Amino acid sequence: MDNADYLEVALRLTNATLSDVAALRAALHDEPWWSARAGETDLEALRPVAAGLRRALARAVAADHDGVLREVNALLAAHPLRPRLSAGHTADPNWHIHMADTSEPPATEVAAAAAWGLAHGVVHHGPSRFGHCGAADCDNYYLDTSTNRARRFCSPRCANRVHVAAFRSRQRDG
Ligand SMILES: [Zn+2]
Ligand SMILES: [Zn+2]
Repeated sequence: MDNADYLEVALRLTNATLSDVAALRAALHDEPWWSARAGETDLEALRPVAAGLRRALARAVAADHDGVLREVNALLAAHPLRPRLSAGHTADPNWHIHMADTSEPPATEVAAAAAWGLAHGVVHHGPSRFGHCGAADCDNYYLDTSTNRARRFCSPRCANRVHVAAFRSRQRDG
């Protein structure tokens, strides 16, 4: 995993429902090292982390730079990186770095990776590149990497839903 992927982890955790362990595992599905071991204690540990990520992203969307500093630094202080080199988890060498000791529960590494990922994402993309989904019934945050900064929705699914609704209401009114 590289730094860009950790931003993905941050956004995935931010937007996860975290209603139960299955929802957490689904949010972490690209990383079996985390998802396969995640349990109830990880879920409980990651709920406040997701809340902190949401507070930080809300400050970014509001262009409140002091707020971004405060919220992201609080996450970094609470969930520091403790990098460990690994040669892999099977007989075949697969060199990579973990963000916490591999004996730690998944939540410890996920929280550190997410905090670092968001901090790095703010540095790399700038806080104004983060957005809150424009669909009324969606509470997701997203990163806008479009050249014209035109992104308004978290996903094509939300964009389509809103556009179809607007089209239908135009037809009704027209
Ligand atoms: Zn590993
Ligand atoms: Zn959405």
